[in-house]
Amino acid sequence: MIPSATGKILWVDLSTASFTEEIIPDQVYRQVLSGIGLAAWLLYRSIPPAADPLGAENVLGFVSGLLTGTKSTFSGRWMAVGKSPLTGTWGEANCGGTLAEAIKRCGYDGIFFKGISPHPIALKVTPAGPQLLDASALWRLDTLQTEAALQELGGSGSQAACIGPAAEKRSLIAGINNDGGRMAARSGLGAVMGAKRLKGIVLNGNTQVHAIDPTETQRLTQSVRRWVEFPDLLPSGALFKLGGSLMRLLPFQPAMDGLLYKMILKKWGTSGMNQFGLETGDAPVQNWRGSRADFNLRQSAPLNPDHIRRQENSKYHCAGCELGCGGIIPGKTGQPHAHKPEFETVIGWSSLLMNNDLELVYTIQDRLNRAGVDSISAAGTVAFAFECFENGSLTLKDTGGLALRWGNPDAILGLVEKMIAREGIGDLLADGSRKAAERIGRGSQAFAMHAAGQELPMHDGRNDPGFALHAAVEAAPGRHTSGSQLYYELYQLWRQIPGLPRPRRLYSKASKYKHPKDKACAAAASSSFVQVLNGAGLCLFGAFLGVHRLPVFAWLNAATGWQLSPQDYLHIGRRILTIKQAFNARQGVPLQHTIPPRALGLPPQKRGANRGRSIDLEPQVRAYWECLGWDARSGQPTSQTWQKLGLDILLPD
Ligand code: SF4
Repeated sequence: MIPSATGKILWVDLSTASFTEEIIPDQVYRQVLSGIGLAAWLLYRSIPPAADPLGAENVLGFVSGLLTGTKSTFSGRWMAVGKSPLTGTWGEANCGGTLAEAIKRCGYDGIFFKGISPHPIALKVTPAGPQLLDASALWRLDTLQTEAALQELGGSGSQAACIGPAAEKRSLIAGINNDGGRMAARSGLGAVMGAKRLKGIVLNGNTQVHAIDPTETQRLTQSVRRWVEFPDLLPSGALFKLGGSLMRLLPFQPAMDGLLYKMILKKWGTSGMNQFGLETGDAPVQNWRGSRADFNLRQSAPLNPDHIRRQENSKYHCAGCELGCGGIIPGKTGQPHAHKPEFETVIGWSSLLMNNDLELVYTIQDRLNRAGVDSISAAGTVAFAFECFENGSLTLKDTGGLALRWGNPDAILGLVEKMIAREGIGDLLADGSRKAAERIGRGSQAFAMHAAGQELPMHDGRNDPGFALHAAVEAAPGRHTSGSQLYYELYQLWRQIPGLPRPRRLYSKASKYKHPKDKACAAAASSSFVQVLNGAGLCLFGAFLGVHRLPVFAWLNAATGWQLSPQDYLHIGRRILTIKQAFNARQGVPLQHTIPPRALGLPPQKRGANRGRSIDLEPQVRAYWECLGWDARSGQPTSQTWQKLGLDILLPD
């Protein structure tokens, strides 16, 4: 028995209102860890081919990580998993907050739902066992109201996750909320929960897990604390716009180090990168067709992270995290407090729409959080609608009189309200830009910036081609949380894993678009590493410190008693990736997700930081598949690789 795992999961069949506990053999943890790996193993087994994501046969899971509860810092991330109704592929969404430890305290490493309840329902788990509660009275409440009501039902110390009205209406860009506005937002898994009529879960257990070697875990955590507490050397947020402008002008750039990121995250959170991203070409402008030449330093001035920081009443830490990149600010829609917006939200609701009213960004974030809508997908879909309006694919008649002109705050907010309510044009947009474009037609597909239906995140592949590659090849398409060339520099995997390419300390920007094989193998290593992080329940931002500072592998050994090498762990990550890829293959979806030509610089932009840049993705995709031992032409895991990874034994059918 591995003491950092509970050794079992809970199955809830909502059609029959029944529960089953499944014991997980130690060998499974050894092969795929817990968290995302355990979920991949279970979903591959349990979801039949061509399953309807909103049907009874889809499985929705909530998982914690193998390190959660062991006092390894950064280990409080939980994940929602299922077949995505937005993309039809493997779906996952990663979230901070408090739920990961709460799952484990209930004595489970994960809770999985199948079937469909005939009426609104909520799951309550206490030391007395699991129980399904009638949630009819909670239906139509927003996420803040629902979470508060669930916590009252769960009693003192309980933690809850829930959906809002958007997921009840099966908006395919709906997420799952916890902790007053943290959201497992991507892949549309809120809609799966809504389709199952599962309004929420509330957890209040008392099981304790621990590392097999708590002294070593404590020692390793102390060593990380040193880096987390490393003095802040950055006096002002204004520095970033200057740094970004300088970086834009130089023909070369330095390999980045995570200590700098740590300082930014601790002081400003991800929004520290707002203006830097705009200046360097990382942050997209005007539905990806513009540049910093259209949204210049004067226009981006309100996004200076110091402005957001001044709003903060307190710092926010996910459970067990000592860095605390979040912040609590005054609520804008009636509630006393709200989470401050992340970089993705700020960019999505500012430069992507040519808006520089930060108050509007706060208001929209609150509205979306309360309704339970993914901020990235909603912003991408609104930007799509604006460009449709500009080009005549949508008219005033279609929009119910809203003039969708870039930067118009009333139009932006009005459209958001309609999407949340699924009213008029909002009903068309509530399922994301791909579905909307299919229904609108009239050439609108060219303005829908998505990968397999999921709106692209706010990191431009023309500036860092790694973002485009990962968005195209990950089992959950259109994500930014797995890899990029920048992330590879930050992880510093080559320090512990022989044979991986080491970036030069200073390199020409032109080199980012060359050497597809090297770049693809680095990307494959990054993807594999992130599966290990997500199996452990660790935060990506912690991993930005680099593996020489964040002892991911040593923590796992101290927790489990295994004596595995970093290479062994990367092998486990590759196994998890391969199961997810096989899941997609079995669902019959394309294994390469098409990235819109505009986001690849086809044709290249004529001005701005990404001027003249384009990406030839095909050779990189093939090399990425090859590095993972998958067929280079189809992306299918080969039977040889399946066997080499021991998957013929782990998943015998
Ligand atoms: S770094 Fe930020 S997102 Fe990550 S665990 Fe800490 S508070 Fe949460």
